[in-house]
Amino acid sequence: MTPADPTSPLSQPGDAPASAALLERARAVTPGGVNSPVRAFRAVGGTPRFMASGRGPWLTDVDGREYVDLVCSWGPMILGHAHPAVLEAVRDAAGRGFSFGTPSENEVLLAEEIVDRVGPVDRVRLVSSGTEATMSAIRLARGFTGRSLVVKFAGHYHGHVDSLLVSAGSGLATFALPDSAGVPAEMAAETIVVPYNDVPALEAVFAARGGEIACVITEAAAGNMGVVPPQPGFTQALRRVTAEHGALLVSDEVMTGFRVGRAGWWGHEGVDVAPDLMTFGKVMGGGFPAAAFGGRADVMALLAPDGPVYQAGTLSGNPVATAAGLATLRACDDALYARLGEVARAIADAASAALSDAGVPHRVQWAGSMFSVFFREGEVRTYDDARAQDAAAFGRFFHAMLDAGVYLPPSAFESWFVSGAHDDAAVERVVAALPAAARAAASGS
Ligand SMILES: *Cc1c(COP(=O)(O)O)cnc(C)c1O
Repeated sequence: MTPADPTSPLSQPGDAPASAALLERARAVTPGGVNSPVRAFRAVGGTPRFMASGRGPWLTDVDGREYVDLVCSWGPMILGHAHPAVLEAVRDAAGRGFSFGTPSENEVLLAEEIVDRVGPVDRVRLVSSGTEATMSAIRLARGFTGRSLVVKFAGHYHGHVDSLLVSAGSGLATFALPDSAGVPAEMAAETIVVPYNDVPALEAVFAARGGEIACVITEAAAGNMGVVPPQPGFTQALRRVTAEHGALLVSDEVMTGFRVGRAGWWGHEGVDVAPDLMTFGKVMGGGFPAAAFGGRADVMALLAPDGPVYQAGTLSGNPVATAAGLATLRACDDALYARLGEVARAIADAASAALSDAGVPHRVQWAGSMFSVFFREGEVRTYDDARAQDAAAFGRFFHAMLDAGVYLPPSAFESWFVSGAHDDAAVERVVAALPAAARAAASGS
């Protein structure tokens, strides 16, 4: 790796010579030079920053530039980078060995913590990624119901599971076409995509095919098209319609779980809707690969070795990852959630004021302390609404913020994330950068 030289003068904003050099080398050995596509900056252009280190709310790139981090690893770093308690737990666990391929105590402790926090979860199985969690939950729902169709909502992301990597045409419910090459049409045809927040469309799909539907999977509050919470009554409608037809309700809380509150969107929105299965990831791994799916005891009982639905993982419940996750969740108390809310509110209010002053149409939406700024006016309820925004204006805004030392998600379709480590200095850096970035957003229109 090219070592950062903080004394080397950076000639102009936007320059990132060490990142550019690493990207070139990376491209020679890795497709696109990145290990997850959104890191490549394709939506905003420019050179993706290779980060060298992180501490609290700050990231330092290989050119020695510092940024306030509003991505937080896409959610997991809820305590900030290299949090002392998590670091100590990781060091301690790693000192005892990295992986045993046997059961170990931390797995029990983490599972107990999840079951304790999330009412509808009686039993939980640990896996290594959110993708694995949703894939396994769907297999389990199919095994339990003996049905094969899955209903998902347009604009919801559940990881890169073949049958879930589909988006909808607009308007009425449609059978999905694959969103990615390499997904067989037969597999995509097992998925029905319905517009989000549209109860009549959901009811119509169930009226036509209800007896064949294994489950509805939903982002508890959508965060992967920007933040679009369920409309009042929508989650209740999901519960009612699935129950009427003997289908399971799978609530994907990989992003919202342990971030929008002690449990997640469940418990934040209200505790009257209990999904049959839930999925978790991101925060519960504390920055390490740990994720989970869980739910009703009678459904989870079908999993191997007790039941016929197979699911496994060499590194599942890894002792270092579970130590990080446990230390993270133990630090996620009411004070932490209150702090996240304050920081998010301060940043969102300042962003909104700056964009208003610059005359940039925008809309801020919330799910707990998760928020995103849509570059359009009016409420965003569906994927079509989310897509109708000025992505070019966001691109100009993004780069102005980056040049001023603020690392935003490099896409207009993402939540902004804060951490408990975002102190006044970090918030001030963001607030100071906003007016010029808002003017840059306005400048191209
Ligand atoms: C991030 C995410 C996933 C996928 O998790 P990975 O760990 O990236 O596989 C699934 N569902 C939701 C809602 C997510 O936000």
